Amino acid sequence: MNSRSTQRGDREVESALGRLEEACRERGLPMTVQRRAVLEALAPRLDHPSADHLFEAVSRRLPGISRTTVYRVLETLVELGLASRISHPGGGARFELRRGRHHHLHCIRCGCVKDFRSPALETVELPRLAAYGFQVEDWSMHVTGLCADCRVRSRRTRKSKISNS
Ligand SMILES: [Zn+2]
Ligand SMILES: [Zn+2]
Repeated sequence: MNSRSTQRGDREVESALGRLEEACRERGLPMTVQRRAVLEALAPRLDHPSADHLFEAVSRRLPGISRTTVYRVLETLVELGLASRISHPGGGARFELRRGRHHHLHCIRCGCVKDFRSPALETVELPRLAAYGFQVEDWSMHVTGLCADCRVRSRRTRKSKISNS
């Protein structure tokens, strides 16, 4: 067993690559080295990386790839339904491999984004949004707050402030 608990297995990467190959074939798009590399970099990650973080990871494997190319490939992966873009209040977009519906916890201090799932939310019925002229395609919940690590850190600094005063 490896200790990289934030990484997913090679199997998941392989299956994502298979889906990409299929999607490219269906649309008559070439399965380029760049598309493959970006998906391989994205698939195992659970930390919802930004496009810049992915660019760093991909350029280690494909030196010379441009930032614009990585951005463009990400857009394509989203369009093909292989990746999701999640909005990130106060920051740029973050990306993840597309999976079933889940929701996000966003730490306002360190910026980490973590997944959570909730059977209770699955049964929630959205209000009638047609009144707003809006057609719903998908929805998820985005919760902001402090992550466990930041809470521990803020407790420590509070304590040290007290003992120093
Ligand atoms: Zn945090
Ligand atoms: Zn997620």
